[in-house]
Amino acid sequence: MKKIAALLVVGLLLIVGSAQVSAYKKDNLELRKKISVQWLAAGDEVATATKNEDAMVIMKFLRESAYLSQPTFNAGGLAAKVIQAPTGKRYHLCFVPLLSSDRNVSKHWQEAVDENQSAFFLEGVNPLVVLKESGKFSRTWQGLILIHEGGHALMRADGENMLGSTQDPLLRKSIEEFYAYQLETAMVEKLGGQAYQKLLQEEAVRLEKSYFKQKIFLMPDYARYYGRLEKIFGRSNSKFEVGVRGSVFWINSVFHLIDTTCKREEREQCKLDFLLSAYKSGSMQ
Ligand SMILES: [Zn+2]
Repeated sequence: MKKIAALLVVGLLLIVGSAQVSAYKKDNLELRKKISVQWLAAGDEVATATKNEDAMVIMKFLRESAYLSQPTFNAGGLAAKVIQAPTGKRYHLCFVPLLSSDRNVSKHWQEAVDENQSAFFLEGVNPLVVLKESGKFSRTWQGLILIHEGGHALMRADGENMLGSTQDPLLRKSIEEFYAYQLETAMVEKLGGQAYQKLLQEEAVRLEKSYFKQKIFLMPDYARYYGRLEKIFGRSNSKFEVGVRGSVFWINSVFHLIDTTCKREEREQCKLDFLLSAYKSGSMQ
C-alpha cells in the first residue's frame, strides 16, 4: 500500500513537473510571438509613414517568408529551430525573438543576448533575423532597424547577383551596407523633415573641412547633435538608441556631403569607399 502511495506521489510530481515545463514553453512561445508582432508593427508603421516602396517590399517579404523560431544549441555557432506550424511560406527565414533566458542555450547565444545590438541578420543555410525585446528603442527607430535588417535578408534571398563576383568579405559587406544605409537614411530624412535637413547640412560642413584637407571623415560627435535629434524624433529609450541614432545621422551626413560635392557618376563609389574604409579601420562594425 505504502509502495502504491509512493508511486502515486511520484506520478503526481511528474505530472506537475511536465505541466510546469509545458506552461513555461507556452509562455516563451507567447512572449516570442509578442516580440515578433511588435517589431513587424513598428516596421509597417515606418514603411507607411515614409511611403517608401522598398521598405514596403521588405516588410511584405518578411511577412511572407519568416518563420517564428527559437535558439537551439549548436557547437558551431548560432542556430535556431522553427516553432511555428508550417504555413506554406515560400522562403525559409528564421525570425528569432530573443529572450534573456536564451543565454543558457549555448555560449554563442549567450554572446548574442549580451551583445549591444537590438536586431541583426545572420546569413547561412537557414538565415536568421534575430530580434531582441524591444524596450530599448522608440517605436520609429525599432521600425527603421527592422527594415534595415530585413533589407539584408532580402538581398541575400534573391540579390546574390547584386554582389556579382565580389569575393572580398569586407567589400561584400560594404556593398550590402551601402544599400541598407541608403534606404535607412532616405527614410530618416523623410521622417526628420526640415529640421533634420538643417542638421545634416550643419554636420556636412563640420565634416567637409577635414575631408577636403586630408581625405578623412571626422568621427561622429554624438553630444553635439543629441538634443536636436531628440527633439526631432522624440526621446530615445536608452543610451544605446542615442548611439544608433548618432551613427545613422553621421553616415547620413557623409552621404549628404558626397552628394553635394562629388560628380553624380562618382557618388556611389565614394560612398562605398567611405564604408569600406570605416569597416577596415574598425570605426564601424
Ligand atoms: Zn546593416
